[in-house]
Amino acid sequence: MKELEARIKEDGRVLGADILKVDSFLNHQIDPKLMQAMGAEFARLFKDQGITKVITVEASGIAPAVMAGLSLDVPVVFARKSKSRILSDDAYTADVYSYTKQSTNQIRIDKRFLSADDHVLLIDDFLANGQALLGMKALADDAGATIIGAGIVIEKSFQPGRQAAIEAGLTNIHSLAKIAAFENGQVVFEEAD
Ligand code: 5GP
Repeated sequence: MKELEARIKEDGRVLGADILKVDSFLNHQIDPKLMQAMGAEFARLFKDQGITKVITVEASGIAPAVMAGLSLDVPVVFARKSKSRILSDDAYTADVYSYTKQSTNQIRIDKRFLSADDHVLLIDDFLANGQALLGMKALADDAGATIIGAGIVIEKSFQPGRQAAIEAGLTNIHSLAKIAAFENGQVVFEEAD
């Protein structure tokens, strides 16, 4: 998505070897118009595939997921993160290791909001090592829901997330911007989906 790539070039900041900071428009301060355009693009990419629900993880997945849900005209559920290890009968749970935060969170979705009747689209802001996506997949699998695909705002293609997702059986993945490399603090894109 050209508009997103232009914004990443203008406002994104490369931190260290493999982190892109986009908190001025994506995951701290939010540009609602850009977010809306991304939601419309997700809806275009996944239209006519029978999606009944959009699933994401708090916090930074919520904005793009809501915009995708708005465009697809379906409800949005975000998995809550908790550090608690207490198991609950009324929620689907999975452990997700965050590379950026270097800690493990349990993510959970109340059983009232995900069922075997659902055909879900998984949304996240980044695809890096794939842990968040695999965690969402585990919740959907537990519920017996059908996973239609995954929509990612920014994929770092030089990290193994997509491969891990494919190996887990998640194939219909579309990323709005794909980063091939960081070179001298600059972002190098590859052709997006
Ligand atoms: P994964 O589980 O695929 O390794 O990483 C996905 C999660 O880590 C995303 O939800 C995102 O919050 C965070 N993340 C991974 N890489 C980056 C990055 O380069 N920049 C930012 N801002 N967040 C990232």
